[in-house]
Amino acid sequence: MITREFQNGSLPMLGLGCMRLPLIEGGKNGDIDKEKTAEMVRMALEGGIRYFDTAYPYHEGNSETVMGEILSRYPRESYLLASKYPGHQIAPSYHPAEVFEDQLKKCRVEYFDFYLLHNVFEKSIETYMDPQWDIVNYFIRQKKEGRIRHLGFSSHGKPDVIRAFLDRWGDELDFCMIQLNWLDWSLQNAAEKVHLLQERKIPIWVMEPLRGGKLIQLTEKQQDLLRKADPTRKSAEWSFRFLQGIPGVTVVLSGMSSPEQMAENLKYFEKEAPLSEKEQALLFEVAEQMKHSVPCTSCGYCLKGCPKGLDIPFFLSVYNELQVSKSFNVSMRIELMEEDKKPSACIDCGACMSICPQKIKIPEKLRDLSEILKTMPSWRAISRERTKLAETQRNGRK
Ligand code: SF4
Ligand code: SF4
Repeated sequence: MITREFQNGSLPMLGLGCMRLPLIEGGKNGDIDKEKTAEMVRMALEGGIRYFDTAYPYHEGNSETVMGEILSRYPRESYLLASKYPGHQIAPSYHPAEVFEDQLKKCRVEYFDFYLLHNVFEKSIETYMDPQWDIVNYFIRQKKEGRIRHLGFSSHGKPDVIRAFLDRWGDELDFCMIQLNWLDWSLQNAAEKVHLLQERKIPIWVMEPLRGGKLIQLTEKQQDLLRKADPTRKSAEWSFRFLQGIPGVTVVLSGMSSPEQMAENLKYFEKEAPLSEKEQALLFEVAEQMKHSVPCTSCGYCLKGCPKGLDIPFFLSVYNELQVSKSFNVSMRIELMEEDKKPSACIDCGACMSICPQKIKIPEKLRDLSEILKTMPSWRAISRERTKLAETQRNGRK
């Protein structure tokens, strides 16, 4: 297993993300197949994976419970367990101590090796920064008491949000997890986030290395491009080798769902094989094909002309992302905005179009985006449901 330096030691580069564990046949998201998961944990430990990444809401709250049950069969020092505080979920109030104690109990451990503030993004940063909830300071105290070995955060937010969070808490944070893969390098501005984290010397943890499987479901045309460069290499291997070449990337979390996926992914981390510059460029070429994007360059000229003060380049980047995959992690960033700042607030005055050097039909795209957003699941509703479910489960365990 490839390793990466981290603080005074090293970490195996591949970890198991526990949000897509195998389910029992016909079961719902909470019905984890424990037998198969136990087999995957056995394979992981034998193959050199030691890092298991769960979170409070994963699998309707059951990921922590199942992973705790399975990992408790092994010596505590043989595995590294990570979980996260759900400050990104909408709740009437936040109680870090209550949630943290519950998580330790569910996971059957006395400490977490790694602990993250879950998804610091445009909206949740207010909650994390709000002194009335005492969230970040509470976890800093847990770290001092040895109940957390390393404290970090994950983010689906813009680079500015990550920067603001690091400006406030950077000295206390050991790592940051971002969505990083060859498609999001440009699509989600991951390149800028990587450069920011490299600059601040914050080790990078990767989520969605295969973008939930999207990067292994390439069209024939896209596959042909890659086959020409190497006829034997599989799509997943391209993706993992891309990450091996990025300085600062320390842990890659893959949400595996079967022993077969585990066996395959383990192979790609046996020895270092980062992509050459030419190979990277080829992946970016495939990424461009996948995006079919509105060619906004984020120059920002249109911003000056908009009487409604709409964040047009941001909306167009969301539009492009939603063309690739309909993820509510993307749409929620608009859902949580004030109504008069959403794409639907566009009054079709056309002022932006006359300025845009790319001649993008901006009002038309904003109208399309508003329609797409109407079809997306509501993050607010999902978040409230998850919070309610977690509270009910927690009360039942008391
Ligand atoms: S058309 Fe819409 S987005 Fe463009 S300047 Fe007018 S209000 Fe702003
Ligand atoms: S002016 Fe055009 S290219 Fe520039 S940010 Fe606005 S929409 Fe994008």
